[in-house]
Amino acid sequence: MKVTSVISGYFKLDGGAMFGVVPKKLWQKLNPPDADNLCTWSMRSILIETGNRKILVDTGIGNKQSEKFRKMFYPHGNSVIDSFREMAIDPREITDVFLTHFHFDHVGGALKFDENGKIIPTFPNATYWSNSIHYDWAFDPNPREEASFLRENFVPLKEQGLLQMIDVQKDDLLWMDDINIRFVNGHTMAMMLLDLPIDSNKRMWYGADLIPSRWHIRRPYVLSYDVQPLYTLDEKERLLSHLVNSGDLLFFEHDPEMECAEISKDDRNRFVIKKHGPLEEMVK
Ligand SMILES: [Zn+2]
Repeated sequence: MKVTSVISGYFKLDGGAMFGVVPKKLWQKLNPPDADNLCTWSMRSILIETGNRKILVDTGIGNKQSEKFRKMFYPHGNSVIDSFREMAIDPREITDVFLTHFHFDHVGGALKFDENGKIIPTFPNATYWSNSIHYDWAFDPNPREEASFLRENFVPLKEQGLLQMIDVQKDDLLWMDDINIRFVNGHTMAMMLLDLPIDSNKRMWYGADLIPSRWHIRRPYVLSYDVQPLYTLDEKERLLSHLVNSGDLLFFEHDPEMECAEISKDDRNRFVIKKHGPLEEMVK
């Protein structure tokens, strides 16, 4: 199995929303905001090559959104398609697209407009993976998440018969080829994390929006977006404790610089970064 980090863009989100109850006095030193209080975040996908599959995990914002939307979130940098072009990967080679959840910064790039303005899959030969608990949750969203679940980003996947639903379970689920899925409910309902081998004796977790950046390994750093923040606390504690004990890597989807890290605890029982770097170097 080969796992590669793929930038699917950068965007801006309000620092207060991203750092939750943590005072600006503290977080502004970590990810300095602009005059509108917006901080820059990455959208970082992974490409998993296993057997004859090429699996893309999350897709970034894509380019279907209006000028008004772009002025709100400032998408910039390489899209996943730009990154694939640089990597000499044709979107037609992608066999599977795994979507952790349907917030626009994760699923927007799954579909695009064709020249007639019709919505078509960005990866025409791929099976797209989600689960029906999350689909139903996103299709009829609560007012807190309404602005994050844009129907044009995921409903056509179902209408066009491209979506494969994973059975949500309480326990971790073996998905395929030694790749496990964990279902978590703090950020949104039935978000899916991945736990996968990156070489013969090392594994990595794709943290999605449970632990979107290096700063979110600290316990109080929970997104204001989360629908059940106390669940997030438990889900973070469980994952981070496992990472400390196992030495597995944690991959950050939204950290503007840090791709992945090993986690340890300091003498005050706080989770801290033990070692970090680009995925390529951490595998060695
Ligand atoms: Zn996100």
